[in-house]
Amino acid sequence: MEVDVLVIGGGSTGSSVAYHLCSEGAGKVMLVERSNIAWGQTGRSTAVVRLHYSTPEVAKMALESWRFLKDMEPRLGKPSGFRAVGFIILAGENELEGLRRNVEMQRSIGINTKLLEPEEVKQLIPQMNVDDLAGAAYEPESGYADPVTTAQSLAEAAKELGCVVKTNTEVRGFEVRDGRIELVKTTAGDFKVNQVVNATGVWTNVINGMLGIDLPVEVVKEDIVIWRRPSSLAGEHIVVGDLPLDYYMRPFGDTQTYMGSINPDLSRRAKTPDAFNIDGRITVDVFLRYGERVSRRIPAMKHAEAAGGWSGLYDVTPDWHPIIGRSAEIENLTHAVGMSGHGFKLAPAIGKLVADLILRDGKSDVVSPEFFSEERFKNGRLIGTSYPYGVSS
Ligand SMILES: Cc1cc2nc3c(=O)[nH]c(=O)nc-3n(C[C@H](O)[C@H](O)[C@H](O)COP(=O)(O)OP(=O)(O)OC[C@H]3O[C@@H](n4cnc5c(N)ncnc54)[C@H](O)[C@@H]3O)c2cc1C
Repeated sequence: MEVDVLVIGGGSTGSSVAYHLCSEGAGKVMLVERSNIAWGQTGRSTAVVRLHYSTPEVAKMALESWRFLKDMEPRLGKPSGFRAVGFIILAGENELEGLRRNVEMQRSIGINTKLLEPEEVKQLIPQMNVDDLAGAAYEPESGYADPVTTAQSLAEAAKELGCVVKTNTEVRGFEVRDGRIELVKTTAGDFKVNQVVNATGVWTNVINGMLGIDLPVEVVKEDIVIWRRPSSLAGEHIVVGDLPLDYYMRPFGDTQTYMGSINPDLSRRAKTPDAFNIDGRITVDVFLRYGERVSRRIPAMKHAEAAGGWSGLYDVTPDWHPIIGRSAEIENLTHAVGMSGHGFKLAPAIGKLVADLILRDGKSDVVSPEFFSEERFKNGRLIGTSYPYGVSS
């Protein structure tokens, strides 16, 4: 079978790429997923959808993606599970200047966000201790979505547009001639290809190893805990990013909260996922560490019960931004990897960008093709951030 574009990896990235390729008439598109759609890190995501970013390029992508996720049901006839509970990012003195700069830039591109004084934060969330805060940015229309539903909806929509979705199919190797991939070898047979997209997230280096190429992507472990809130904190709450105390939290229904860190522990990193066990239980020290942070901010959280948790992996680049673009070594390979722990909310714009790069000969209105290219690391042109590098970049 001959395929125009073969996309490897059925997470939110690959499913969005496949959908956008099909909706832009890319010909015969195949999405190859080793397991099930969203069974990789997408299925472990907390799926926060916020617009707060440090560069206009990424903020615009977040805005386009938010519009897409919010309107997915009327647009595709399929849900994303998006809930506009609001998002607030809290800043201390150290982060205030960056926060102000980001909000000004975001407002200039049409994002609904505003700066709040600590007293206004208190009015919005009366249970919150604001003593150490210098300000906050509030996005009333942001929130979170359901990552599994979103990826499955996108893969399903791609299928309706003619995409061949092959689950339980693993890519095992390639035949490369004159710097081009000619054949992709999978457990369901070999496919002649014109273009290939690598959207395998934390497995990127495994695929790259088969092709003899190397990208600056590392795998980092992150732990998420689940709290059952006390009855005084019942109801779905605003998503919170707390820069001074280094955590974020989002509601899961009326009674529970998911919590993770903004700057994960970088001592836990490796080139490939086999270095980690992510199926073990969350240890007591993680609950104690997170519990101490959140109850400093919201004292009533001292009465929350530990209700479980899970671990996941991030595919992290040196500037905590993705690598999206044509491979420097393999002519017909496009990278869509290195999502650095914040790729879910950007998936719609990333899918559109990759489709453009392939179908419009490297051009796109989403962002200039150099912006996320792998060359930026060689040229020392890292994507900037108003805060220390981490998922809030
Ligand atoms: C704990 C956690 C919390 C997160 N929270 C957020 C958040 O709040 N907001 C946000 O925007 N982002 C968040 N993220 C990041 C976000 O979930 C991911 O960046 C996003 O889902 C994109 O994932 P992906 O599709 O690139 O990778 P994945 O979902 O991992 O998909 C890659 C797929 O490739 C497949 N694959 C691998 N090797 C092969 C092969 N050889 N052949 C075929 N298939 C293969 C895998 O099975 C997998 O399904 C979080 C991530 C984690 C882990």
